[in-house]
Amino acid sequence: MTRFIDVGSLSDYISQTGVETLIEKMVAYLEQDYRRWNDFEKSARLASHSDIGVIELMPVSDQHQYAFKYVNGHPDNLDHNLPTVMAFGVLADVATGYPVLLSELTLTTAIRTAATSVMAARYMARPDARVMALIGNGSQSEFQALAFHKVLGIEEVRCYDVEPTATAKFIENLSGVEGLRLVHCRSAKEACDGADTVTTVTADKRLATILTPNMVSPGMHINAVGGDCPGKTEIHADILRQGSIFVEFEPQTRIEGDIQQLAADHPVTEMWRLIADNRSGRTSAEEITIFDSVGFALEDYSALRLLFDLAEADGIGSFIELVPNLDDPRDLFTLTRGGKQRARLRKAA
Ligand code: NAD
Repeated sequence: MTRFIDVGSLSDYISQTGVETLIEKMVAYLEQDYRRWNDFEKSARLASHSDIGVIELMPVSDQHQYAFKYVNGHPDNLDHNLPTVMAFGVLADVATGYPVLLSELTLTTAIRTAATSVMAARYMARPDARVMALIGNGSQSEFQALAFHKVLGIEEVRCYDVEPTATAKFIENLSGVEGLRLVHCRSAKEACDGADTVTTVTADKRLATILTPNMVSPGMHINAVGGDCPGKTEIHADILRQGSIFVEFEPQTRIEGDIQQLAADHPVTEMWRLIADNRSGRTSAEEITIFDSVGFALEDYSALRLLFDLAEADGIGSFIELVPNLDDPRDLFTLTRGGKQRARLRKAA
């Protein structure tokens, strides 16, 4: 049988364990998998674009396990009372092709994206970074703030969204977090004033410039999360030219990341190189570092691997017959007799 984790099961589990605990576990799983980067068969995701959004399939595998995620990005989905990003995914056994886990990945994507951002920041931000600007206060934002608070030691988050109700929701959701000061800013520039690290996590399907050179100061780390599709950017090209750029999987980021604005041979470093060698991506306290995040299939593999292990240990979710479990694997026809008849035959056998 296939393990099945729906939104409700994961939500109940997180409400007991705490989201910060899950983010920390996710960082550990991500680091393990990024460290063995060369074990994986990798490809840029398959994206199907429309004028208002994108639907993507993200596969990755090693010798033992295969994973894929289905995910969309529709910035105007609020008009339909739906989230901008929705996802689910599968983990399968390479030896047989059997799907061992089918899981919700919408909530999980927010956790894995925050975990990836903070893992990157650990290698790229100044160790004394304490103030974070957070531009875009939608679905992903609380997870980003909590990850940076818990893992990087961020003490103040300066938040801004074009929609003040989004910032109000963000502040209400995180107002009880001990040791975290939240500052509601009236512009992106005000949010960036005095920030050591800036996260942009906005949703708008156009070549936007959320972060302009006047908002950037020496030593800043920029975590650019929302520019993740052709024609969808957040960072002004002059900032990219000033800083050292780190990416997940270069062939995918060249198409989708903020670096789509730069020449195809502009130097970038794949993040796994830092993790595998355990070395800092930053060479000085004044350097501007940029993580041009787009989201890579390996991160969803790590997330599915973690969910599977948690399900085994703590019994999250249930089991479903997603593919047939037959007494005689050649006798697929028995399924045409319906569930009751099959149960009777099995009992009689
Ligand atoms: P969301 O729609 O819930 O939130 C986006 C927020 O951005 C909204 O509150 C909106 O008002 C705000 N916004 C739009 N334009 C703005 C601007 N110019 N200035 C300030 N705020 C602005 O979306 P979400 O689920 O939080 O996702 C945010 C972005 O992150 C999306 O673009 C999504 O595609 C991307 N994303 C990337 C990854 C990754 O791995 N890199 C993973 C998940 C989501």
